[in-house]
Amino acid sequence: MALKNLVAVIGTTGVGKSKLSVALAKALDGEIINADAMQTYAGVPILTNKHPEAEREGVPHHLLGHIPDVTAEYTVPQFEREASACVDEICGRGKVPIVVGGTHYYVQSLLLGSTVAGAAAVVPSREVSAADAAVLDGDTRALWERLQAVDPAIAQKFHPRDHRKLRRALEIYLTTGTRASDLYAAQAAASADSVRYRALVLWVWSEQGALDGRLDARVDAMDRGGLGPEVAGLHAEYVAAGEPPLDRGLWQAIGFKEFLPFLASGDAQTRAACVDDMKRATRRYARTQTKWIRKKLLVAAAAAPADLRPQTALLDATDLAAWDERVAARAVGLARRFLAGETLGPADLAPDAAAAALLAPARDADLSRRPDDWQHFACAQCAVDGEPFVCVGAELWKQHLTSRRHRLAVKRERGRAQHAAWLARQAE
Ligand SMILES: [Zn+2]
Repeated sequence: MALKNLVAVIGTTGVGKSKLSVALAKALDGEIINADAMQTYAGVPILTNKHPEAEREGVPHHLLGHIPDVTAEYTVPQFEREASACVDEICGRGKVPIVVGGTHYYVQSLLLGSTVAGAAAVVPSREVSAADAAVLDGDTRALWERLQAVDPAIAQKFHPRDHRKLRRALEIYLTTGTRASDLYAAQAAASADSVRYRALVLWVWSEQGALDGRLDARVDAMDRGGLGPEVAGLHAEYVAAGEPPLDRGLWQAIGFKEFLPFLASGDAQTRAACVDDMKRATRRYARTQTKWIRKKLLVAAAAAPADLRPQTALLDATDLAAWDERVAARAVGLARRFLAGETLGPADLAPDAAAAALLAPARDADLSRRPDDWQHFACAQCAVDGEPFVCVGAELWKQHLTSRRHRLAVKRERGRAQHAAWLARQAE
């Protein structure tokens, strides 16, 4: 049976994905499936940048604000299940499913199967002992040591300070008895036959410099538009919930953590600093999102068999004055040809050489496909508080050895050694 057609709109926060998706839905008779993790939670439309109802122009939106519990974790398997059910429904109505969102591991798992850590449908089947539970809730070092003991391969994959990932990997082992490293191997083997849809992926992209200004302006607009009362309301829930870890549920939304100092103190000067922190975190998030697209999503797409590979096009949204021509009209034109069954060529997918370079997957970048590179490298020269500085993988280690930080540390050490030698000579 032929695969169902699906259009996905991806890209960083604040680049205009929602606006484009509504235009696409109108042109193609489509419906929208949200793939932004924070927007799956009910409420806080400003904090999570939900596209305002008035601007949705009557286009149906699915998986938007449908999780009532802000502390609930909306997992990848849950998203996959619900999103694929939506695709079936939408196709059943004879309409085009348009998946839109910046949580790119959701999009990736829907299109290309579960290639993400912890994404497998791991069913907890074991009781965790009290001692193990204490380790899971304990500090990062204890987590790492326990993981190193039960699954040394995966312990080498993550940075020893990456609390969240270490905890998740250990939790998988303790609750299922299966090592996370074995799951990775099984997932890699399965990914070849996990392409679910015939997909057109539209990557709305902007040069980072131009985007940064827009992101700052958007945070200011959010601030004027009622962000304060939203985070205050969320803070009340946070306090009522006993101030849970911030790496879970809606607490991860950019702006909440950054506003905590103000929410605690109520001081106006603190508030301005919080807004600045929120701007910095937003810019950082945009960079992380671009990295994911290039190093994970495009790599996974390229690994799929040629006839099943998602067709990925880059739409240049750097110059907003050219939006209609370079983004909206191009997207609609490409999608129409795609839906007519055409296979788009490189010149269709990339408008110029720079776009083609961005679309070329960084082949060796996905660590999860390179278990041979799961390895810690510790630098004694760059130790912090007596703890060695750790890089994961040969590539990062190579970069570290040529970094300014490392060269300065080596120079400092040489200086200290020379000074010690000089002191020793003086003492003779
Ligand atoms: Zn170093």
